[in-house]
Amino acid sequence: MTAFPAATITGYYPRIGPHRELKRALESLWASRIDAEEFSRSVRSLRLDTYHRLRELGLTEDWAIPASYSHYDHVLDTALTVGLIASTTSGTDFDLGEYFALARGTTHRPPLEMTKWFDTNYHYLVPEIEDSTRFRARPQHLLSIVAEAKAAGHLVRPVLVGPVTLLALAKSAPGTATSPLARLDELTTVYVDVLAALAAAGVEWVQLDEPALVADSADLSDEQLAEAAAVAYASLTAARTRPQIVVTAPYGTLRAGLPALAGSGVEALSVDLSAATRAFDPEYVQRLRDQVPASVHLVAGVVDGRGIWVDDLDASLTVLTELGRESLSVSTSTTLLHVPHTVAGETKLPVDVASWLSFAEEKVVEVEALAAARAHGRDVRPAVFARAKRAKRTRAESSRVHNPEVTARTAALGGRDGRRCDAEVRRQAQLALDIPRLPTTTIGSFPQTAEVRRARADHRAGRIDAAAYEQAMKAEIDRVVRLQEDLGFDVIVHGEPERNDMVQYFAENLDGFATTEGGWVQSYGSRCTRPPILFGDVSRPEPITVDWSTYAATRTTRSVKGMLTGPVTILAWSFTRDDVPLAESADQIALALADEVRDLEAAGIGIIQVDEPALRELLPLREAQRPAYLDWSVRAFRLVSAQAAPGTQIHTHLCYSEFGQIIDAIGALDADVTSIEAARSRMEVLSDLAEFSRGIGPGVYDIHSPRVPSVAELVELIEAALSIVPDDRLWINPDCGLKTRGYAEVTAALANLVTARDAVLAARAPALIDSLR
Ligand code: GLN
Ligand code: ZN
Repeated sequence: MTAFPAATITGYYPRIGPHRELKRALESLWASRIDAEEFSRSVRSLRLDTYHRLRELGLTEDWAIPASYSHYDHVLDTALTVGLIASTTSGTDFDLGEYFALARGTTHRPPLEMTKWFDTNYHYLVPEIEDSTRFRARPQHLLSIVAEAKAAGHLVRPVLVGPVTLLALAKSAPGTATSPLARLDELTTVYVDVLAALAAAGVEWVQLDEPALVADSADLSDEQLAEAAAVAYASLTAARTRPQIVVTAPYGTLRAGLPALAGSGVEALSVDLSAATRAFDPEYVQRLRDQVPASVHLVAGVVDGRGIWVDDLDASLTVLTELGRESLSVSTSTTLLHVPHTVAGETKLPVDVASWLSFAEEKVVEVEALAAARAHGRDVRPAVFARAKRAKRTRAESSRVHNPEVTARTAALGGRDGRRCDAEVRRQAQLALDIPRLPTTTIGSFPQTAEVRRARADHRAGRIDAAAYEQAMKAEIDRVVRLQEDLGFDVIVHGEPERNDMVQYFAENLDGFATTEGGWVQSYGSRCTRPPILFGDVSRPEPITVDWSTYAATRTTRSVKGMLTGPVTILAWSFTRDDVPLAESADQIALALADEVRDLEAAGIGIIQVDEPALRELLPLREAQRPAYLDWSVRAFRLVSAQAAPGTQIHTHLCYSEFGQIIDAIGALDADVTSIEAARSRMEVLSDLAEFSRGIGPGVYDIHSPRVPSVAELVELIEAALSIVPDDRLWINPDCGLKTRGYAEVTAALANLVTARDAVLAARAPALIDSLR
């Protein structure tokens, strides 16, 4: 059997395609502009082009290129391949109708739930296991991908989510008696069948991903997961006909999982040794030396798969040497799904910034150079090593990166925790805002119409000038303000028409960030984002939102709420620095935003919302690291409004998560009003927030669905909220921003929301009068 390739990448290559070909194919298929056959043809050529390109970039050995394609999501693919989700597939591909029904739902059934893949911004589909589900090997799709590559001259390495991780990520369908992991034995036998089919097709290496073994799970201990892995891999490796197995453990360091996997009989183990990981677990290299026997081939993921910085190749080479073994390959720490395709297309980036970056293609070149250097000495790839050296030096010296004024300012903060005065003092001072009982407001954005998007694109392309652009935005603000007044909203927003994206907008207006033109990264399915790149110390050259908010204020006599994105969310949705701690960047952004708060206040804006929808997202996978994270993230949030006058009302907004784990941190944000996603869970979140002593706005209108909630339904939700939150603290608002919705449904839903609030108030009027006596 062939040895493991000396250079490889861990799993999925950015499958969306260099020019988002997959997105286009998917959207055309869904809109019936192309048929299934044409779809298959386009994704086939996307796959073959990818293999070809990877080979050009240096992955020339057999089995070095992972067969890492998915129409939509790799968790769904594996779940179908092992029958964790029942399917009727008989052909070589998945049944596309069935596949996309699972991914996106139909009129008759909701899609699978979607949630974040470990601590990344990729979202996977959560398989639901029924008691009645009989697992079954359905390797046809995988086999066809392998065969198709082989026909084109590439021996690619099939990749599956491993059995332990698959079950750890799955959930039980409602009413199911057994927990997913209780069915591990049964599932393992199906993996055995899949592996046998791959072996029969001539596959010599298969990759099984087990990131669940590096994360702390809410309901499974490290030891339980390790034990599960030991059992599962003992059965898998005992199978008679199978390819050699490489297990990957990306996104952090293995603990109990390390001896379990190393001793399980698998031929190769791929571990995350990226700079980030090394920084927080320096003993990992030592444990790998001690605990991985020579008989197990070690694949060292030294090139960071998630960040975008040029690798410090010399440092990586040192780590490779320190591992002290012959049987060693070089790889990326994680899949490259999290980074864009190539820096080459980014002609508008400052040249020095571009020279510091490695996206997927550049990372493949780095991996190959490290492997070549190990085999033949570092002089064999002089250009790649020279680029790495230069990047390290110029970044360290760059005045674009290091701004002494900024670092002095954060240093001067000392241990200040950013606390404002007592919440009760603030409440008294804020009575001057004259906010009525059960006030209505929205979360910020209004639907982004085609005209708004066109004006932005025209402005960017130079087809219209700044004045014309401003005109178009003001016209939209006029309309949004008028709509809110007509509907009877109490606290008015300007609607955020000028923002393409709540993070990118601030990144474009802050020094220290760069944005890309084509740096698309798959978020889920056909959805991609272009994360900004934080490369240096952050400062605010001039006010960002003040003109828009004050313009809105001139159009109404009601209170206007200013709208900022918080430091944690800006960091969570950007590529961040590896040369300073995240906490330092968070403080810098917080101080820049604090200046914005000061300017908004000075301009007469008395209510300011600082959105932190991603607060939960950055929570570390390891329990032990969570307190430190919550500490700096909460502190950064508070710094934004630390200097605000007591009479200025600070709002925050959170969404996208179960908040249970971070409920104390939400309290510690100390916002005067917190709006929070709640409609889907029918106000479940409120029981957690019962202790909360400040304003709270559990979303009553689920904006993730095109449905218009009825007045009756909204009344019920408001009453449910009132059973927990006293009526002088409850705010009435939607779940999230309205940006992705259409005006017709939004207008109807918001009208119902105000009507429902009025109805609740009217019904409570006698009680209210009583309480005033
Ligand atoms: N203010 C933002 C908006 O309304 C908040 C979006 C979010 O929470 N994701 O669009
Ligand atoms: Zn939200």
